[in-house]
Amino acid sequence: MSETIQRRVSRRVQVGGVAVGGGAPIMVQSMTNTDTADAEATARQVEALARAGSEVVRITVNSPEAAAQVARIRQRLDAAGCAVPLVGDFHYNGHKLLKDYPECAQALAKYRINPGNVGRGAKRDEQFATMIELACRHDKPVRIGVNWGSLDQELLARLMDANSKLVAPRSAEVVMREALISSALESAARAEELGLPGDRIMLSCKVSGVQDLIAVYRDLARRCDYPLHLGLTEAGMGSKGIVASTAAMAVLLQAGIGDTIRVSLTPEPGGDRSQEVVVAQEILQTMGLRSFAPMVIACPGCGRTTSTYFQELASRIQAYLRRQMPLWRARYPGVEDMHVAVMGCVVNGPGESKQANIGISLPGAGEHPVAPVYEDGQKTVTLKGGRIAEEFQAIVEAYVGRTYGEGGRLRQAPAAGQPPKGTVIPVKALMP
Ligand code: SF4
Repeated sequence: MSETIQRRVSRRVQVGGVAVGGGAPIMVQSMTNTDTADAEATARQVEALARAGSEVVRITVNSPEAAAQVARIRQRLDAAGCAVPLVGDFHYNGHKLLKDYPECAQALAKYRINPGNVGRGAKRDEQFATMIELACRHDKPVRIGVNWGSLDQELLARLMDANSKLVAPRSAEVVMREALISSALESAARAEELGLPGDRIMLSCKVSGVQDLIAVYRDLARRCDYPLHLGLTEAGMGSKGIVASTAAMAVLLQAGIGDTIRVSLTPEPGGDRSQEVVVAQEILQTMGLRSFAPMVIACPGCGRTTSTYFQELASRIQAYLRRQMPLWRARYPGVEDMHVAVMGCVVNGPGESKQANIGISLPGAGEHPVAPVYEDGQKTVTLKGGRIAEEFQAIVEAYVGRTYGEGGRLRQAPAAGQPPKGTVIPVKALMP
């Protein structure tokens, strides 16, 4: 945990076996994009997301066919040793699905309720109350998840009307932000009136603009102590989605705001859904808020590197470290804090490698074709020839065993009753 960040004080909400808020580590979550009615495909994707490090996974529950499969998805995950809590995402018909499919209501660890999509007029209050009563009956927490794109239009009209009567009306943008926050806070207050304890409620107010998100969450954070779920809605594809999510969330996280995050990336066709989990982890890790996997420090390369060899080595080592983490996390506590340097030439190579736990300085143009390796600041070996990558990987593996294994110098003992840093839900099926 960074010493410079003071986290906002929030209540603690338990989502299955995962704590959110109240000082718990900022939780990483994600959402499937499979048809929930296809239990096998959904369970497979949930497992992949959990394996990547998602500590909670949300699935859409949009139809009777989907609701009918939720308990089966839970069973498949349990049978595979994957304990990741499932959250049901409901819009329009959640009251009916949760009532008609009690095994679905029971199998889920949390319900996401969008107050803008619960119903219209008198039906809205009645259907919202039904969902809250079902959450109470099944002992489940809820997220009141307001979204810019589906804002409660009656509430917005009421606030716009009141604003127009002010001597100095505020801008439409400010009223819209206020409508988002009011929708979340009024719905949470109503849920508590209906009997749901305050420590079973978390909130989100998602928008797609970076500055809007920052403004909304700063205000929301001041006005309640519910845990907050951060995320841009519709962040976008590729680097745009990653940059926008990072820019918005970093500002809020630095201010201590945010108890769980989701990075809503649009995957490339056929792309890996787990990328959103990796990005969320990297946001938290690069900010020093949590550690999930060893970090590879690689230089960008320049005219001093005449081949792509060092890029390939950096990418290979990074992939190798991530692949090892499901096993290493349990076997080598503390390894997630390790830094590995892969550098392109003598200019910064030895210096950066000495600062890392372990580093390699590859030869740049015109240098002798040798690659010194540094461990804990000391040069230990110089590699050469055609198998530098394989040999360096073996050296990293030996270093990890020696340093983070039983009796290792940097091994971290988890505090009693606390999960180790960077803990994710164990996936037994991944263990050898
Ligand atoms: S370490 Fe060498 S190769 Fe890498 S960016 Fe610096 S000068 Fe270029």
